[in-house]
Amino acid sequence: EKFVYVFGNGQAEGDAGMSHLLGGKGANLAEMTRLGIPVPAGFTLCTEVCGLYLQKRRYPELLKEQVNEALLKVQSAMGAGFGSGDDPLLVSVRSGARVSMPGMMDTVLNLGLNDHTVQGLIKRTGDARFAYDSYRRFVQMYADVVLGVDHHHFEAMLNALKQQTGKVQDTDITADEWKSLVAQYKNKVLEVTQKPFPEEPQDQLWGAIGAVFDSWTIPRAITYRRLNEIPESWGTAVTVQAMVFGNMGTDCATGVAFTRDPSTGHNRFFGEYLINAQGEDVVAGIRTPQQITLEGKRLNGSTLPAMEEAMPELYKELYAVQNRLEMHYREMQDIEFTIQRNKLWLLQTRTGKRTAKAALKIAVNMVHEGLINTREAVSRVSPESLNQLLHPTLDPKADKRIIAKGLAASPGAATGRVVFEADEAEQWAATGQMVILVRDDTSPEDIHGMHSAKGIITARGGMTSHAAVVARGMGRPCVSGCAGLSINMENEQFSVGGVTVAKGDWVTIDGSTGEVMLGQVPTVPPELSGDFTAFMEWVDGFTRMKVRANADTPDDARMARSFGAQGIGLCRTEHMFFGAERIIHVRGLILAQTESDRMRAIDKILPLQRSDFAGLFREMKGYPVMIRLLDPPLHEFIPHDEEGQNEVALVFGMPIDKVRERVASLKEFNPMLGHRGCRLGISFPEIYEMQVRAIMEAACQLVKEEGFIITPEIMIPLVGLESELSYLRERVVAVCETVMGENSVRIPYMIGTMIELPRAALIADQLAKSGEFFSFGTNDLTQTTMGISRDDAGPFLQEYVQKNLLPKDPFISIDQDGVGQLVRLAAEKGRSTRPEIKLGVCGEHGGDPESIHFFEKVKLDYVSCSPFRVPIARLAAAQAVL
Ligand code: ADP
Ligand code: MG
Ligand code: MG
Repeated sequence: EKFVYVFGNGQAEGDAGMSHLLGGKGANLAEMTRLGIPVPAGFTLCTEVCGLYLQKRRYPELLKEQVNEALLKVQSAMGAGFGSGDDPLLVSVRSGARVSMPGMMDTVLNLGLNDHTVQGLIKRTGDARFAYDSYRRFVQMYADVVLGVDHHHFEAMLNALKQQTGKVQDTDITADEWKSLVAQYKNKVLEVTQKPFPEEPQDQLWGAIGAVFDSWTIPRAITYRRLNEIPESWGTAVTVQAMVFGNMGTDCATGVAFTRDPSTGHNRFFGEYLINAQGEDVVAGIRTPQQITLEGKRLNGSTLPAMEEAMPELYKELYAVQNRLEMHYREMQDIEFTIQRNKLWLLQTRTGKRTAKAALKIAVNMVHEGLINTREAVSRVSPESLNQLLHPTLDPKADKRIIAKGLAASPGAATGRVVFEADEAEQWAATGQMVILVRDDTSPEDIHGMHSAKGIITARGGMTSHAAVVARGMGRPCVSGCAGLSINMENEQFSVGGVTVAKGDWVTIDGSTGEVMLGQVPTVPPELSGDFTAFMEWVDGFTRMKVRANADTPDDARMARSFGAQGIGLCRTEHMFFGAERIIHVRGLILAQTESDRMRAIDKILPLQRSDFAGLFREMKGYPVMIRLLDPPLHEFIPHDEEGQNEVALVFGMPIDKVRERVASLKEFNPMLGHRGCRLGISFPEIYEMQVRAIMEAACQLVKEEGFIITPEIMIPLVGLESELSYLRERVVAVCETVMGENSVRIPYMIGTMIELPRAALIADQLAKSGEFFSFGTNDLTQTTMGISRDDAGPFLQEYVQKNLLPKDPFISIDQDGVGQLVRLAAEKGRSTRPEIKLGVCGEHGGDPESIHFFEKVKLDYVSCSPFRVPIARLAAAQAVL
């Protein structure tokens, strides 16, 4: 069996199609090698080894032999010997899963150095200072990543050395001083781990390989996988690659770049680099990086020379390579490169992360450039990412007190209270607070805090810093590299430009301009660009299912239409009952004991309901509107407090103890399974009759006055028995006919039911006799099928997901094996009775991309979701048929 794949000298055993085996990094290094792009030689241990190793804690038999063979090939390709005292081969040991997990896995650089080989490095480079600097970096990195010796030990020793010698910069330190530090570092390792630092390059190599595999199961990797839905079983590959050095002098450099602007999507080469530096330095934000292009320098306002002017020949070469890569992959690339003594080497290429705005622009531009077709364009934008475009921006008219300006690292506006630690961000957010996480810089340990925060500010780091990359991926607004901002952790405050901001104070950030403002600045809804419109037109060309919105008010309906909803899939009429001037009459209706009191209440509510529906119909301009008759448990309307009960007594002239008695008689132990849904319609026929009358009067009025043809879809909730539906249908029909007679118009209308009880799904063939449509109320259907209370389940469902008992929260993404099967069954049964029956979903799942894929499989006619999620659902519905 083959576990190891070699690349180098223009030849590679793997290619870009093998990322499941070689990881994204390994597969693309092989592909670049095949393309003739300069890549240091190396080899990749495939992901299967990870699984075998983590299971059995030992490697497959053939592995050692295959690694040794591969190492021989790399040595001959690079003309250097692993462990050689003359011309040593140094390697990096890099991790890489199938999809990139930025910063999740630790890379060890400069591996192969010991007291013997460092002499070889000096011989080869003639630079003892460089050699010992590399050596101490290696010992520190290896000790940290592989041996678990925290890097602060080493930093403390470095600081002590600086203090002794009076030196400030790393660059002032001499070869001998580095050398002495290497010895100290190794002693520290012995002291902490009780074992000497491994001198043998082979031992170093296997230690590092094992550490990469082990890092697949460290908590931050697990968190990242959970947030990004990456299965644990994929495992990581390990790539061992010959080192090249960007830190051998001023003819050396290292950088990261994107083939297009990852923030805006503009087709311009964009990146950052550092002269005389090693890989990690750009990303870590230790030094402020320089721009690669002159245009970037201009846009950024940087004063440091761009690579285009400092290294024009190499820049041209780099430009050609990035162009080649983008044409080859037909996708925006994110590349890492190093220049060693005026020679360019590529160290990585992958699909570049981008903001939603950039994703759209790139997809649209690439179609226009003829690089991809519209089908590919539609498949390239993740539905969830559209969320970023639909979020508010700062109100341009609002007063802003700008206290700092950093880089516009991830767009969008956010406001919140300042916290300085990831854990704190998470804790505060858990109590419902909006927080802005403020850090010097971020590392993968901060992911959970970044996720909990509304926005992120960092004092250091460029556009490709960890904070910037991760925030863009998460859709969190972020301002990075906020020069002059200094954090005082002890006093829990930061200061910038003479202003001091304490923990808990409000700040606002604009990740599109890089501005940081004091206080809460108001925001305005987003404006959707021309790219968005063009793109969504392509999207709608592919979808089969319609996308409707859940909307209860004319405002919601307008918003839904502006997001492209093709109807209302759920209007919850109870929301119309809670208005201040209405609730009292609703209460009267429920608590009244005489016919005349009931009629009095109805006379008050009816005109209000009628104008609510007229407003909705008017906004929807003939698109279908599905209205659910009153659904929630009675107790939600009943006044439980003294004051509310007194008010009813007063307004309806009822004795207070009668009111109390009635309230007590309506008390329920389990209201969600109690007197609600169609059961209300059966015991309080006046309520449903009033609602149906209001719906039909509004519809007749609009047809007569405004000429719209409206087809109201009247939906009866919580049906479990065929008799319930046929009983109520008869009454609804009677009211509809009466109202149309009164108005002398005929309009089409439909009567249907929610499917939200397992029994309803099981007898769907019977329900389809009197139901002309089904709307799957998957929130309740999940609750009633799984027997899990949707209002109480949050905490333990999270635990279930963490313990892998459930792949996902079933209230977020539909449980396909259980609840989904009821949907499938009911759809089949419904169609067997009434082939033209209209089938749809309302509830959270209607806006969840994964659930939408499932609904496409069972061939529902539409999904309905909240207005903000409509574009997401449209895109997901299109991708479900691609
Ligand atoms: P990550 O997945 O965190 O980006 P990488 O494996 O890409 O980790 O490595 C981290 C850094 O080390 C990158 O900046 C990369 O360019 C640099 N690096 C990795 N391998 C080499 C090598 N063989 N020579 C020089 N630099 C390297
Ligand atoms: Mg990398
Ligand atoms: Mg329901």
